[in-house]
Amino acid sequence: MNAKLFGSSGVRGIANIDVTPNLASKVGLAVATFSKAKEIVVARDTRVSGLMLQDALVSGLLAGGAKTKYLGIVPTPVLAFLTRELKAGAGVMITASHNPPQYNGIKVFNKDSIAYDEQDQDKIEEIVEHESFSLTDWRNVGEATSEDETRLYLETTNKNVRLEKKWNIVLDPGCGATYELAPLIHKQLGCNVTAINAQPDGYFPARNPEPKAETLTPLSGIVRELGKDIGIAYDGDGDRVAFIDEKGGFADFDRVLAAYAGYITKKKGGGIVVTNVEASMCVEKMVEKHGGKVVRTKVGDVYLSQAIKKHKAIFGGEPCGAWIHPQFHYCPDGILSSLLLLKALEDEKAKLSELIAQAPQYPTVRENINCGNRTKYSVVEKVGKNLKSAFSNYKEFSIVDGVRLSLENGWILVRASGTEELIRLTVEGESLKTAKRIMNQSLGIVKEQVRRIKK
Ligand code: MG
Repeated sequence: MNAKLFGSSGVRGIANIDVTPNLASKVGLAVATFSKAKEIVVARDTRVSGLMLQDALVSGLLAGGAKTKYLGIVPTPVLAFLTRELKAGAGVMITASHNPPQYNGIKVFNKDSIAYDEQDQDKIEEIVEHESFSLTDWRNVGEATSEDETRLYLETTNKNVRLEKKWNIVLDPGCGATYELAPLIHKQLGCNVTAINAQPDGYFPARNPEPKAETLTPLSGIVRELGKDIGIAYDGDGDRVAFIDEKGGFADFDRVLAAYAGYITKKKGGGIVVTNVEASMCVEKMVEKHGGKVVRTKVGDVYLSQAIKKHKAIFGGEPCGAWIHPQFHYCPDGILSSLLLLKALEDEKAKLSELIAQAPQYPTVRENINCGNRTKYSVVEKVGKNLKSAFSNYKEFSIVDGVRLSLENGWILVRASGTEELIRLTVEGESLKTAKRIMNQSLGIVKEQVRRIKK
């Protein structure tokens, strides 16, 4: 095998080039071997290669003796939730999330609805690499059944979320996995729903499966033209959400996350909120204002899920629109996030632009420095000490992901790129002037370290 099979979000690559039926069946057999689960649930998003990979994967699961239940095309968070609700030993999602249509992948969840972490993934990888599979005796080959279990998810959302107002919303599933469930749930909660791109289509003809400002201009236009309250868009597998405010403006990912985090902290009277090292410090401003505390993790939803469980956090989210609501389950959930944001707007008696305006906006500056793959990690490791002495009045120092220093008026993050020969510097400051000053000072320190290591 060439490079590592699993990345931070499971197996991911181009269908029939990197991710083939052959590989899917091996991963299936490895998951059955490793988890020893009696029953495993499987679902997929709308991608063209989904059925092909799903059936190959299930073939491997059955060969390993696991009873398998197909849940059909559902969002990733619904698969994660159902893994726990149906007491399955593991859940497997065939998805490449927000990647373009030619991609696909395999993401595995444990019985707690948390994605497999690096350790679990390494074990699967080892089994695949050494082909140390446990093929079951022919008498014990698993059985496959197929069942639509989404009603369990619908019952839970209906029971736990109540909306008073008849919201006028525009939904954009982008032809992905939320195409059916998102309009249905919002309608059941009394929303007046206009849906676009709400048919399953694995070519993603309407827009890129990643919801961001550039891909959502049609949605913005519709919200503005029709005078709706909000626009809501999901990524290909429905674990991310993006919002358009009542004026048609794209809701900044960091500020809407911070505003919701502030609201939920206020509502709960404090508590822990989890976010990643890249999120804006407006998250701290909003959470601390209401007596809460922020815990920061590595980038990647599995790290947030684990930290939320460990710290009994009230909420967690990454500024790509992946929000986790632990009162339901531990997987980021786009549909739940849009329902709960509407609830927040009701409680705050605010329009979306007004809720977001509660969170301060800080400028960010980014720079890359060329550095070879062999040395980039040691540069980052060594640079921490020098940064600490340069910014001696720093508030917090963290090496949870790269090197991060939080200061009185901003923060610096220095990380080695996962894929390129680069070191990435991110700085946020209370003003642009401050951010640039912190950046210049940090750039000097990192460049000096690169020079020293080269010598
Ligand atoms: Mg996703």
